Formats: sequence, structure tokens, C-alpha cells
Amino acid sequence: MNDCLFCKIIRGEVPSTKIYEDEYVYAFKDIEPIAPVHYLVIPKEHIESAAKITPENSAVISHIYEVIAKIAKNEGLDDGFRVVNNCGEIAGQTVFHIHFHLMAGRKLEWPAG
Ligand code: 5GP
Ligand code: ZN
Repeated sequence: MNDCLFCKIIRGEVPSTKIYEDEYVYAFKDIEPIAPVHYLVIPKEHIESAAKITPENSAVISHIYEVIAKIAKNEGLDDGFRVVNNCGEIAGQTVFHIHFHLMAGRKLEWPAG
């Protein structure tokens, strides 16, 4: 057991609105959405950030992108969507369990930040 917020969400100790779940991945609504669709897709394995991806744990990351494609299809995100991973302090990472923001439902400006 650990104190990580997203590990607690995976264990059901902190409530969340589930969008998708399988053996390796959990997806849920962001609590402070910045777009009409704003989900967080996370591995069940605790990986701190993109800086901690290794040959041993990288398979779940490609699986996450398969899940994202599945969610996008299920939710009819046919106009497109954005996937964002903030890594580390200067990128604005606030929860140190790797997560992919899936955003859609409005025009998303680019470049961001
Ligand atoms: P980061 O800034 O690390 O890239 O993103 C963390 C995200 O987690 C933020 O968008 C924030 O709104 C979301 N978040 C923080 N705490 C909670 C929570 O308790 N529940 C949910 N569903 N989202 C959270
Ligand atoms: Zn965690």
C-alpha cells in the first residue's frame, strides 16, 4: 500500500468516475476538467512519470494508447482529441503517478503553454 492519490483511486479508496478499466489500465474523469471531455488514463502499476519508463515497464504505455483509441471510438470523438502527459515540475505535473490527459469536445489551441 502507498500514499499515492492515483493508486488510492485504483484501489477504490478515493472515489472517481470510471470511464474504462481492464487488468492493466484505469481511466476516469478529471476532477477539474478543462475541456468538455477530460479523462485521465493511468496504468495500475505505479510509475512515477514518463522519466521512469524503462524496457521493463513500457508495454503498458503502448497499451494505454490502445485504450485511448478505444475510448475515443466509444465516445465518438471523431473530430479528434488531445493526449497530454506532463512530466516533472516545469511541465506542471502535480500527481506523481504517470497519467495521460485525454481531452476533446472543443477547439484545442496549439501551441499549448
Ligand atoms: P497533472 O497536473 O499532474 O498533469 O494532472 C493531474 C490532474 O489530476 C489534474 O488535471 C487534476 O485536476 C486531476 N486530479 C487531482 N486530484 C484528483 C482527484 O482526486 N480526482 C480526480 N478525478 N482527478 C484529480
Ligand atoms: Zn500511484
